[in-house]
Amino acid sequence: MSGNGETAPRDPGYRPVFPLDRGPIEEVHAFWLAGMSCDGCTIAAAGAQNPTVEQLMSARLPGLPKIVLHHPVLSVTAGKAFMKAHHAAREGTLGAPYVVLYEGSVADERIAGDLGGYWSAMGAAEAPDGSKQPIPTAHWLRDLAPGAAAVIAVGTCATWGGVPAAAGNVTGSMSVMDYLGKDYLSALGLPPINIPGCAPVGDNITETIAAVLMFLAGFGPLPEFDELGRPKWLFGETVHRRCVLAGNYEEGKFAQEYGERQCLVELGCWGPVVQCNIVSRGALGHAGGCMNTGGICIGCTMPGFPDAFAPFYKKPPGSTLSATLSRTTGSFVSYLRQFTQKSRNRTPNWARAQAVPSGWANVDGGSSIAERAVGGVYDYLRRRGTRFEAGSARQRALQAPSHRHLRSGQAEREGAE
Ligand code: SF4
Ligand code: SF4
Repeated sequence: MSGNGETAPRDPGYRPVFPLDRGPIEEVHAFWLAGMSCDGCTIAAAGAQNPTVEQLMSARLPGLPKIVLHHPVLSVTAGKAFMKAHHAAREGTLGAPYVVLYEGSVADERIAGDLGGYWSAMGAAEAPDGSKQPIPTAHWLRDLAPGAAAVIAVGTCATWGGVPAAAGNVTGSMSVMDYLGKDYLSALGLPPINIPGCAPVGDNITETIAAVLMFLAGFGPLPEFDELGRPKWLFGETVHRRCVLAGNYEEGKFAQEYGERQCLVELGCWGPVVQCNIVSRGALGHAGGCMNTGGICIGCTMPGFPDAFAPFYKKPPGSTLSATLSRTTGSFVSYLRQFTQKSRNRTPNWARAQAVPSGWANVDGGSSIAERAVGGVYDYLRRRGTRFEAGSARQRALQAPSHRHLRSGQAEREGAE
């Protein structure tokens, strides 16, 4: 490291004590550090609704400790007052457990230092020449991580490297897990937790923090994470499986222009291989989200993003085969479904009368000989293996007592009149 903002690393053997045996933790500090970031993750977290940042900070969720948030943009303190808790945590005198949240990728500060500057920094430390120099957030991460109850990487830059670490990476940017290394474990024995997305769904951020805090407070089990440290309940499925347009893929219906409400794979959607929950959760407040609003998936939650998905808006090569297969089988399936749908859009009265009394349009209520023949076979298959048949002798026998009761009540009422 250069002398720029250099701070002596803490004793690597240092481990704070979490007094879980003295009862539930009531307060946890959260240090939000920003590396090579656009602040999009901060905006996403600030807009989260389930839970909100305010709920986390005011201990309004039963069982959750209060979060004391130290955020370079959202905190109301500044300067030395803002940095005081950071220094205390680093020196082991904070007196409360803490978690580290890192937004943005971790740049190689040696490159900037050699050029006489820094990439991302917060606070200042005295340099050997007596001057005050900015402390890189990478150094804060290095120094705070060993004592943290958990280190949470927020957003794709922090989880995998993201855009700053793409081809041509002049800043030596890397992910939090690359920076801390394979052997890193937090004070509670956790490797870095990764919440990817560019930017992530805000609720994914706050919900994961809440789940980890619930564990910290002794109120819940440690949530399940996958082999890359992603919350498994949020990133276990491809976005395609929950996509609002997935039924179109299955029936071989593909959009050729934006705005068509059909599967977007031929416009460049990578959804079938991308782990993301945005279509079921929405981008913000359960609204929006890529395919919900007609946009394709460019794989922003994935470690390979952006290089492995570029150029964007070009059809993924594998989709040629899968889309052709879907077209072949899907067009037949789609025809059969339309056929069945038409007959399910008729009441028994309309089906008998072969007419639909709709004032909205001139609906063809009739059915051709072929439709009646296929419909007969379909209905036979539908009922096969059961004892149910609408209007059957058995159904009439089961309904007979009710009909008798209604008739006798009606007769009594007429007699009384
Ligand atoms: S739009 Fe994308 S995610 Fe949705 S069905 Fe098509 S390929 Fe799958
Ligand atoms: S659907 Fe794709 S582009 Fe949209 S947020 Fe998820 S991973 Fe990113």
